[in-house]
Amino acid sequence: MHRIGIDLGGTKIEGVILDENSAEIYRERTPTEAERGYRHILSRIAMLYGRMQARVANAPHTLGIGTPGSISPRTGLLRNSNTVALNGQPFIADLEQFVGRKFVIANDANCFALAEAILGAARGYPTVFGVIMGTGTGGGIVFGGTVHTGRTAIAGEWGHTSIDPQGPLCYCGTRGCVETYLSGSGIENRFFEQTGRRSSAMQIFAAASAHDPAATAVIDAFYAHFGRAMANVINVVDPDIVVLGGGVSNVGGLYDRGVSAVRCCVFADYFDTPIVKNQLGSSSGVIGAALIGC
Ligand SMILES: [Zn+2]
Repeated sequence: MHRIGIDLGGTKIEGVILDENSAEIYRERTPTEAERGYRHILSRIAMLYGRMQARVANAPHTLGIGTPGSISPRTGLLRNSNTVALNGQPFIADLEQFVGRKFVIANDANCFALAEAILGAARGYPTVFGVIMGTGTGGGIVFGGTVHTGRTAIAGEWGHTSIDPQGPLCYCGTRGCVETYLSGSGIENRFFEQTGRRSSAMQIFAAASAHDPAATAVIDAFYAHFGRAMANVINVVDPDIVVLGGGVSNVGGLYDRGVSAVRCCVFADYFDTPIVKNQLGSSSGVIGAALIGC
């Protein structure tokens, strides 16, 4: 049976069709047009789904949808999404009406972790912690090929655990969230605080490599925070592998200097957990959405 996956993002909606061997046979992207509001977003998803349905000639298929944020098990309403038009909405019930069928929905970081666990860098590892360090910082946990969602559906959300109660104020209202240190925007904001200058995260990494003192201070702190934040997760979950995704995962230093920083903070006599870069790149979200479908 074909698997259709749709990944809803703030600026684009991406769809993919996988064949029965999980090989990709079709992909399409369309703008979200989030500024036109909640119901417009639903209609954009439904339109994309309609076109993909036609591509499989209406043959039986599964449908999975990845979104920013998650559905509250208590209220059924979507929450914690940076596409704010979705927050507080009965997203599943409304979207079912638009697409005219049942589907499975999952948080985008959980989709990332699942795709890497089944088809990517963590293939064959029983317990996987997947991390996205992009504009924001998210995470997902996969046990034996199944996403662990958790009682309150927040499992893996390490981005909004605080590692410094005196740290920078996060948009979620907490101080010192992992996201304020390890996301691309977090690195840029920390550099701005020190220098009054705006640079991209990649420029700041490059400046640190060239021994710029302010950039070096920010990047030194970045690695220290990465070590502490990652060790906190490893001490609790003890995964067989950690897979990094998002733009910041392209920083090569994470896989040597970053790993050493984690080793310092892990509560064990040795540390050999692989911390690796993703294999599926920016496709992992939409592929994970296809894999969770029903
Ligand atoms: Zn936060």
